[in-house]
Amino acid sequence: MQLLIATTNEHKFKEIKALLPSWIIPYSLKDVAVSTYHEEPHEDLIHNAEHKARFYFEQTQVPTLADDTGLFVEALNGAPGVHSARFAGEPPNDEANRKKLLQLLQNETNRNAYFLTALCFYLQWNEIHIFLGKLQGTITYEERGTFGFGYDPIFQPLNSNKTLAELPMQEKNRISHRFQAIQSFVAFLKRYESSLFRRG
Ligand code: IMP
Repeated sequence: MQLLIATTNEHKFKEIKALLPSWIIPYSLKDVAVSTYHEEPHEDLIHNAEHKARFYFEQTQVPTLADDTGLFVEALNGAPGVHSARFAGEPPNDEANRKKLLQLLQNETNRNAYFLTALCFYLQWNEIHIFLGKLQGTITYEERGTFGFGYDPIFQPLNSNKTLAELPMQEKNRISHRFQAIQSFVAFLKRYESSLFRRG
């Protein structure tokens, strides 16, 4: 089955691709001639992921997977949340976002935070499926590590003494919010595949 992984973020593409079963043929946005997407018009991750998936499905008619992820910080009442990408303003800049977050938390002892990923699978016209994944952790006091992207250097998962950026991709992929959402997606695909076989 062909699957369009609708992200312009190379890191995300690699992470998602590495988690898919072998019978899925993944395409990136570079493989298909589409105009690319920049908006995230909604105030929640699920609707943004759905909006993105629909945008690409309508152009390609290829089953499409889109994700939207946010970092929710307890001491900031859930900010940056759905606005994580543009936390420090336009254009989105990972380093500036991390700096702003560390600065806001400078005198804060409550460092609790979580990542939430909403995946939207647009299978065919008017058939969509949503999968969620969450990773609890804390925000560090300074950046550590060089792997990954985004907020990885300042996010330490619960029960770990390393930030996500200190974990090689395979290790991040065993625990991450995106991994958990993709696991549910893959379980769904397996059920879907066997129902196709049953129908002949
Ligand atoms: P989006 O889902 O691409 O819109 O990402 C929202 C923001 O969260 C961006 O600033 C990303 O860099 C960041 N982000 C998304 N996924 C991850 C992740 O797995 N680790 C760290 N930061 C992430």
